[in-house]
Amino acid sequence: MKNIEERQFELLKEIGFVRTSGTEEELLAANILREKLNSLGVESKLEPFKVSCYNMKKAKLEILEPFNKEYTVTGMGFSGNTEEEGLTADFEYVEQAEPINLVNVKGKIVLINGGLTIKKYENIIKAGAVGFITFSGTVLDDEEKTDIEKRMLREKHLEFGKVPGVNVRVKDALEMVALECSKVRITVLQEEGEAESHNLIADIKGTDYPEEVVVIMAHYDSVPFSKGVYDNGAGSVIIMELLRHYLENPPKRTIRFIWFGSEERGLLGSKDYVKSHESELEAIKFGINVDVAGAILGEDKALVTGDESLCNMIEYFSKEVCFPITVKQSIYSSDCIPFADKGIPVVNFGRFGANGATKIHSRYDILDYLSPKYLYKTMNFVKDFSEKIINAYVFPVPRKMPENMVKDIDKYLKKKDCKNK
Ligand SMILES: [Zn+2]
Repeated sequence: MKNIEERQFELLKEIGFVRTSGTEEELLAANILREKLNSLGVESKLEPFKVSCYNMKKAKLEILEPFNKEYTVTGMGFSGNTEEEGLTADFEYVEQAEPINLVNVKGKIVLINGGLTIKKYENIIKAGAVGFITFSGTVLDDEEKTDIEKRMLREKHLEFGKVPGVNVRVKDALEMVALECSKVRITVLQEEGEAESHNLIADIKGTDYPEEVVVIMAHYDSVPFSKGVYDNGAGSVIIMELLRHYLENPPKRTIRFIWFGSEERGLLGSKDYVKSHESELEAIKFGINVDVAGAILGEDKALVTGDESLCNMIEYFSKEVCFPITVKQSIYSSDCIPFADKGIPVVNFGRFGANGATKIHSRYDILDYLSPKYLYKTMNFVKDFSEKIINAYVFPVPRKMPENMVKDIDKYLKKKDCKNK
């Protein structure tokens, strides 16, 4: 057991570098995982898919009235370009960007609370704003010790048009409003293009019911500044360990292990998978996704997107083996969604950090807050539970999606704009 704990954590260290969508580093991480599969004698496929990408050349925010100051910002990816010399306009703070905040913003650059949902973006565009500023972080942030979030617009934003934007630290946004800033200039210069991201796929053929497939999945990409060990190097190494287990203990049903790229960009890897493997989906009976694990201070959760009976099954099993876990029927913003959307029941397992005890999507997603022991515990439970399903004589999970879940999935896929976990 100690052995397993250590080798899992070792692999987590190996892939613990920033590996964002469509970059060489993301591909490097995929290849490290692939090498591991090779060394275990497992054949795998690396499936490429296209992702949009941007290269931010310049992003600037200057206050022109009633004082002069420049704040450090990041440029909003895919928000287009200003003129070389920037875009100068009157400034207005519009809080949540509801119509009542926007009666007087035509031709202005607006400051919006927090992140830019699709609704807020639609509202500011319709109201005639010509540029926007978002903010991130907390007022407690030390500039030396934190990064300004790098944000980007998604396809759904762009349906409403394109206006340039920047993201600033919350303390600078606060100063702008407190000092009644009235005129600003933003400069955004970027190149937009395409890159390749990859899904890594490996099958272990079932001994008794090879035509029935269970997918075990995890995303291996991370966001800018984040080494992504908790989110989600942890899930990536857990499913590698599951694969090792099933190599030694051949499963009755076929297991397809998939490491997805570009999850952090809006589930792009899993969306590409279900689209390009449409004809094979019928064979997939069930999915297990692992996203975030290893937290020393935290709790295990199972979020079931499927029949209520599956919740009961996990609940009873957790009692049988005395493994504390919160089980809930719900949807979870991760790669299981595109499968659930096709009617495939899925469970998301994860060990979530207690409040304040882990930090995702930042430079503080690091090994210090994780341990081999807790990574092992989650892996071990998922392994034991997965066996009950994969090796059952009669498949215990109905391949259907209850009405309430269908509704939640539709709502998520239509309205969801920025990930929030
Ligand atoms: Zn994740």
